[in-house]
Amino acid sequence: MFVAGAEESAWRTTVADQERLRVQTRRPLVDSALTEQQLGLKQAEERLYRDYIHRLAKASPDYPNYQYLCRLCSVHIENVQGAHKHIKEKRHKKNITEKQEENELRALPPPSAAQISALDRTVTQTALRFGLSDDDFAARQSAVRRMERTVQERLPGNDTLTRG
Ligand SMILES: [Zn+2]
Repeated sequence: MFVAGAEESAWRTTVADQERLRVQTRRPLVDSALTEQQLGLKQAEERLYRDYIHRLAKASPDYPNYQYLCRLCSVHIENVQGAHKHIKEKRHKKNITEKQEENELRALPPPSAAQISALDRTVTQTALRFGLSDDDFAARQSAVRRMERTVQERLPGNDTLTRG
């Protein structure tokens, strides 16, 4: 036999390359040609998508066997079963709760003009009812002065009590 070693290994490389290419270019499922199994997978993936788990269009070279990625937790996941398991993990649940809260806050509409003016009225009324008027302030100041005088009369030379 006269098979050149270099030629043979070149052929092997080509097959390996083709296989890699085939895995990498795995097309997303097309609606029109779905088997029942594929339909189940598609529904499962749609459900996972709501949990922020996305199918990778292209497997990462570091994790060739991992088909999914949880975008919340930044972890690679092997398959649908693994994804269902991941959803039940404490870390993922915590991340998803935080994400939902964030989404709700972002979705809050800004206050309307009516709401702002209602708040303005409430603050003004409360200030008028419970706030300190100029008369109140003057009355308090004169009370402090009277107290100071009294203290100084009883304790000559010591005016730090009301100032310190
Ligand atoms: Zn996660």
